Amino acid sequence: MLTLNQHPSGRHFLQIPGPSPVPDRILRAMCLPTIDHRGPEFGRLGLKVLAGIQQIFQTQHPVAIYPASGTGAWEAALANTMSPGDRVLMVETGQFATLWQKMATRLGLQTEFISEPGTCAETGLPLAWRRGVNAALIEERLRADAGHQIRAVCVVHNETSTGVTSDIAAVRRAIDSVKHPALLMVDTISGLASADYRHDEWRVDVAISGSQKGLMLPPGISFNALSPRALEVSKTAKLPKSFWAWDEIVEMNKGGYWPYTPSTNLLYGLHEALDMLLAQGLPTVFARHQRWAAGVRAAVTAWGLPIQCADPAVYSPVLTGVVTPAGVDADAVRKLIHTRYDMSLGTGLGKVKGRMFRIGHLGDCNDLTLVATVAGCEMGLKQAGVKLAGSGVQALMEAFT
Ligand SMILES: *Cc1c(COP(=O)(O)O)cnc(C)c1O
Repeated sequence: MLTLNQHPSGRHFLQIPGPSPVPDRILRAMCLPTIDHRGPEFGRLGLKVLAGIQQIFQTQHPVAIYPASGTGAWEAALANTMSPGDRVLMVETGQFATLWQKMATRLGLQTEFISEPGTCAETGLPLAWRRGVNAALIEERLRADAGHQIRAVCVVHNETSTGVTSDIAAVRRAIDSVKHPALLMVDTISGLASADYRHDEWRVDVAISGSQKGLMLPPGISFNALSPRALEVSKTAKLPKSFWAWDEIVEMNKGGYWPYTPSTNLLYGLHEALDMLLAQGLPTVFARHQRWAAGVRAAVTAWGLPIQCADPAVYSPVLTGVVTPAGVDADAVRKLIHTRYDMSLGTGLGKVKGRMFRIGHLGDCNDLTLVATVAGCEMGLKQAGVKLAGSGVQALMEAFT
C-alpha cells in the first residue's frame, strides 16, 4: 500500500475526517510487547484508561470499550436498550445518520426518520444535509406521541459526511419539555475529543464514539458511554445481545479487565492519547479545533465556494465540506490532489457524492499542516479548471496571524 505513494519523500497528508493522523508518541506507545490480559499489569492499564475516557466524555458513569469500529458501538447501543419492534426517532442529517437508521431497521426496530424538507436553491443539495438537528421537530413529534411509543431519540453530534454539528443540549430540552421518557442516544464518533461533548450535563443515555477521529488513534476500538437509566433499561431490553452486552463488561471493568481479549496495544495507544489530551485540557483542545475550522472556512469563502454547512451556528470544528461548482466532479479534484500532492481528502458520501469534498482538521494537526492542506486544495482546484475568486491560502494565513 505504501509503495503506491507517488511522492516517496516527506509525509502523506491524511486530511480526511478520520482516520486522523496518529502522533508518533502514540505509535511508539503501541509497539510495546503485548501483555497477559488477565495479569496484574493489565488491570492497572484497564483502570487507568477507563477512568481517563470518562473525563473525555465528561461523565461519572461507566464507559464500555469494544474491540470494534464505531459501527459496532452503534449496534451495541441499540442491542442493549431496545426490544424487537420498538419505535425509535432518528434525524436525517447526512450519511452517518442514514447508515445508523438502516442498521436500526435491520435489527428489527421501527424507525421514524425525520428530516428538513426541500433542496437548497444555491447548490441543489438536500437542505437536511446542510443543517443540524432541528430540536423543534423532535419536540413536536414527541408531543404527538402521547402513548410514549417512541423508545429512543437518536441523533448524530458531529455529522462527518457534511461538517455540521447538532445542538445536543437543545435536543435534551426538547425531550424534557414534553416530559417524554424516550432515551437519548448520541453518535459522537467524530465529535468526541474535538468538539465539546458533555455526557452527564446533557443527560445523554448512550453516547457512541470511536478511536480513529478526535482521539488520534488507529481504527479498532469504540465506546458506549452510559447513563444509570440506560443500564437499568438494558436489564429488560429484549434484542439479542451477547458480545455487546454491557452487564458482563461493566462488572469485569471494575477490576480493569474485560470478559474477552481486549485490543491490548490499542489500549496502550489510548493511554497515551488520554495523557496528551488531558495534559492539554479539553477547553484547549476544543479551542484549537475551532481555530482551525475558522481558518479553513475563511479559505473556502475566499475561493468563493459554498461551505456544505449552511448554518453558521453549527459549523463543525472537525471538518469542512467544500461544495464544487455544478459540473465539476469533486472526486476528480480529490483524485488529482492525491496523485499530485500525496494528500487524502474526504469524499462526498451518499446524496452529496461528487458534489463536495471534505477537509479534515482534527486531531494531530497544527497551523502549518492546515496551510499546506489548503495550498494543496487550492492548487488542485485550479488545475481541475475551477475558477477561484481569490486565494484561500492568503485568507487562512490572515486568519492564523
Ligand atoms: C466514522 C463515523 C462512523 C462510522 O464509524 P466506523 O468506525 O467507520 O464504523 C459513524 N458515525 C460517524 C459520525 C462517524 O464519523
